[in-house]
Amino acid sequence: MSLSDDIAHNLARIAARIAEATARANRPDGAVSLVAVSKTHPAAAVEAALAAGQRVFGENRVQEAQGKFPPLRPAWPGLRLHVIGALQTNKARDAVRLADVIESLDRPRLAAALAEAMAKEGRRPDCLIQVNVGEEPQKAGIPPGACDAFLRECREEHGLPVRGLMCIPPAEGDPRRHFDWLAERAARHGLPVVSMGMSADFEQAIACGATHVRVGSAIFGARG
Ligand SMILES: *Cc1c(COP(=O)(O)O)cnc(C)c1O
Repeated sequence: MSLSDDIAHNLARIAARIAEATARANRPDGAVSLVAVSKTHPAAAVEAALAAGQRVFGENRVQEAQGKFPPLRPAWPGLRLHVIGALQTNKARDAVRLADVIESLDRPRLAAALAEAMAKEGRRPDCLIQVNVGEEPQKAGIPPGACDAFLRECREEHGLPVRGLMCIPPAEGDPRRHFDWLAERAARHGLPVVSMGMSADFEQAIACGATHVRVGSAIFGARG
């Protein structure tokens, strides 16, 4: 099979699993969106996914996304790009220019840099606050205990369009208590977007209330 057949086949399988998990959780059809994580894969893989009907993509490096996505936009006006990786403040302006959603808002200096970049660019991508739900020292994200204060700061001091929360739970152990925590916290603040769940655990995330799942290797194959 060709690369594009593989990708179309994988997308159809993931879509079916998302639909089943959504129904099992007694959530309405279409309650969960798939963010296809194309990092490290070439533009041809993204085009194959677009041709198969996928429109929402995630990239964790601004520089890599800059090379792949702007050339695709004219032919695919429905394309939506989520920046999902750690973002340096000196990349804030590029991210604002490039992204439709920035999922990795995780510290006060980045909030300030994004607000300044949005003012300069006249473009306001939705932002999600990334929470380090497992309080892992090596991981990005605001600590859970600082989430409420940081949300207030992002909105009130910086006027950022914060639409939801995002997390990457610890690789070991049951992710569900972290997923439950994130969904509850988003609901408490009236935030509509809950981005959680990857190739290995997106069905559990859907059971816990994910509105967006970020799936990479199960669609595009292993990363080199
Ligand atoms: C790479 C990545 C994913 C996708 O991971 P897979 O295990 O390949 O599905 C999801 N979210 C973030 C933030 C990532 O960096």
